[in-house]
Amino acid sequence: MLILDGKVVRDKIAAELRQRILAFSSKPKLVIIQIGENEESATYIQQKKRFGESIGAVVEHVALPADTSERDVLSAIKQYNSDSNTHGIIIQMPIPDSFDRDRVLDAIAPEKDVDGLGSASVKALWEGKRAGYMPATTKGILSLLEYYKIPIAGKNVVVVGRSFLVGKPTAQALLNLDATVTIAHSKTVNLPALTQHADILIVATGNPHFIQRDHVRAGQVIIDVGITAVTGEKLDEEVGERTITGDVHFDAVKDTVHAISPVPGGVGPMTVASLFENLVTAFEIQNR
Ligand code: NAP
Repeated sequence: MLILDGKVVRDKIAAELRQRILAFSSKPKLVIIQIGENEESATYIQQKKRFGESIGAVVEHVALPADTSERDVLSAIKQYNSDSNTHGIIIQMPIPDSFDRDRVLDAIAPEKDVDGLGSASVKALWEGKRAGYMPATTKGILSLLEYYKIPIAGKNVVVVGRSFLVGKPTAQALLNLDATVTIAHSKTVNLPALTQHADILIVATGNPHFIQRDHVRAGQVIIDVGITAVTGEKLDEEVGERTITGDVHFDAVKDTVHAISPVPGGVGPMTVASLFENLVTAFEIQNR
């Protein structure tokens, strides 16, 4: 069984990004706007800061209180849009329900939308155009498959999960690469029959250990996107010292499938590296 090791690929991408940045006298800058407090978001922002600084980028974290008005958030985005030293702007998700998510995301200038969640980027992905930035998790999954030379064209891909952030863009990106894609969700009937049919199974539901032995078959490639902080005693026992767990019961499927991305150490590190690939590309374009 092949482990799709996201840390190895992340380190390779980091080395490439360092070189690309060294070709310039200035540094790329990412602005992360966080609205309200959230423990998980704080961890993700720390990871982004650490990775960004390790490749020579500047990462500015703008923490706005949950009661900031939407108007003030929009005006902060506008200010960074017109700042020529800022090359990428992201809104750390989730944001409070009181905000119009699409209006906030669409306020980011398309050339600085390095999370690829604004309408222009979404439309470009939908149309299969190269313009616009691909959401980081989707881009990370594609890079992981590419590094391990896993063919995509003509393959049956099943994506479990249809979120705006992960499931839908990932399904669309794989369709653009000529896979035959099926999207499953919480109302899907007889999921194991569907998932067994996949050559590549991508799981993004947020349900720990949801994919069991009866969902998989020999020869499959499994991409586990899920991240759940481990709490219950039972999970603690099952995952040993790991503090997060994926959607796939790794031990139950590992002797059956051909390849699998572990949690931690699979898609997570790829997501961070892919965000900074988008940032460095934005920086290069804006410096042309
Ligand atoms: P989300 O918005 O909650 O979406 C979850 C999706 O899973 C929904 O489409 C839901 O279906 C589907 N689902 C839930 N239970 C299901 C079931 N029993 N059977 C089939 N489908 C089911 O979550 P998300 O933002 O996509 O994130 C998914 C997971 O990925 C989370 O654990 C998150 O932490 C993780 N994540 C990881 C990374 C990374 O870098 N590794 C990045 C982003 C997210 P319905 O639409 O029918 O409700």
